[in-house]
Amino acid sequence: MTKARVLRHPDFSKAFEISCDASGVGIGGVLSQEGHPVAFFSEKLNSAKQKYSTYDKKFYAIVRAFHYWQYYVFPNEFVLYYDHQALRYLQSQKQLNPRHVKWFEFLQTFTFVIRHRPGVDNKVADALSRVLTVVQSLSITVPGLDRIKFEYSTCPDFGIIFQEILDGHRRDHVDFVIRDGYLFRGSHLCLPRTSLRDFLVWEMHASGLAGHLGRDKTIALVEDRFYWPSLKRDVARKVSQCRTCHLAKATKQNTSLYTPLPIPHTPLRDLSMDFVLGLLETVRAHDSILVVVDRFSKMAHFISCSKTVDASLVARLFFREIVRLHGLPVTIVSDRDVRFMSYFWKTLWKLFGTTLKFSSAFHPQTDGQTEVVNRSLGNLLRCVVGDKLSN
Ligand SMILES: [Zn+2]
Repeated sequence: MTKARVLRHPDFSKAFEISCDASGVGIGGVLSQEGHPVAFFSEKLNSAKQKYSTYDKKFYAIVRAFHYWQYYVFPNEFVLYYDHQALRYLQSQKQLNPRHVKWFEFLQTFTFVIRHRPGVDNKVADALSRVLTVVQSLSITVPGLDRIKFEYSTCPDFGIIFQEILDGHRRDHVDFVIRDGYLFRGSHLCLPRTSLRDFLVWEMHASGLAGHLGRDKTIALVEDRFYWPSLKRDVARKVSQCRTCHLAKATKQNTSLYTPLPIPHTPLRDLSMDFVLGLLETVRAHDSILVVVDRFSKMAHFISCSKTVDASLVARLFFREIVRLHGLPVTIVSDRDVRFMSYFWKTLWKLFGTTLKFSSAFHPQTDGQTEVVNRSLGNLLRCVVGDKLSN
C-alpha cells in the first residue's frame, strides 16, 4: 500500500488478485491485477462485529471483499493473497458455527487459489484465468485431450522441462508452469509432439468458422492458445498444404497499379463502396453483396442485397447498416454505376453534405480499396461454400 500506484482499468482477460485485512474497527481490501491496484474497499465494523475474534474479522474481510468484487472475479479463477492462517484454521474445524457455515458456502461459489505472499510470480497469476478456460473449452472440443498429460515426459520438446519442473527446478524455466497435469508456457498450452498438433492446426485453419485464413493469421490464432518450439514452421507448412486454399485462392496478386486516394485522417469518415454482383441466389433471393470499406481503418461491411435493388433501396440499406453504426461519412468513393447516377441518390447525399467522388468506370485507380477487399471476400466465400454451391 505504501507504494500504491495509480488505479488502472480492469482487464478481464487477466487474473484478478484480492488481498484484504482486518483491524480492530474496520476491514479493507485491494483488488489488483499484476500488482496494479484496480479498486479499493473499506468498511467500518459495527459494534457487534467489533466483538468478533481476530480470525472472524479476517474471515469476514474476505467474505466482504468477495461480495464487493464478485462481478469482477466471477466466474474465472483468481488469486487471494492472504497473510493469515484463518482460512486454514477454519478448514480444520470439525464443528462450525452457523455464521462460518454461511460464509463458507458463499466462498465455495468462487474459484480461487490462496497465496500467502503477494507478488511472487505475476506470470503465473496472469496465466491463471485463461489456463482453466483454455483446458475446459478444449476438452469439450478435443476428445482425449487429457492423454497429452502422459506424453510430456517422453516428448523430445518438453520432456526435460517437464521433468525438471516436477523435480522442483522451476527457476530454470520461469515461463513454464504445470497445472492439472498440463504444461503451460505463460497462458499457452504446450502441445507435445503428437498428431494432435496437426489436428488442432487443421481445426483452426479449416473448420466451420475458421474460413481458411492465410498463413500469418492462422499462426496468430494458434499462437494465441498453444505453444511448441516449431509452431510457426509447422503451421506454415500445414497451411501451404491446404488443398482448398490452393483451389480457391488466386495466386495472382494486384493486376494493376492502384493510385492512392487522398489519405483519410479519421476513421469512418471516408468510405468506399462497391458491389459484388451475380452470385448465386440465397433463400431470401439475395444475389449480390454491397461492400463498404472504411478507407482509414480498412473495416469492411458486407451487406447482402439483390442485384435489382434501385438507388433508393441502396440508400436505405446504407443508412440502416452503415449510418446507424457509424454516422454519416464525409466522402464516399464508388465505381460509376447506374445506381449512383440516380438523381435521387445524389440529391439525398447532398442533403447530408456528402460529396460523391465518382471513380471512372471499370478503372481500378480510385477504388483499389474495395477491389482488394472484394478479392478477400471472394476467397472467403469460395473456401466456405466449396462444393456445396446450393448453400
Ligand atoms: Zn485452407
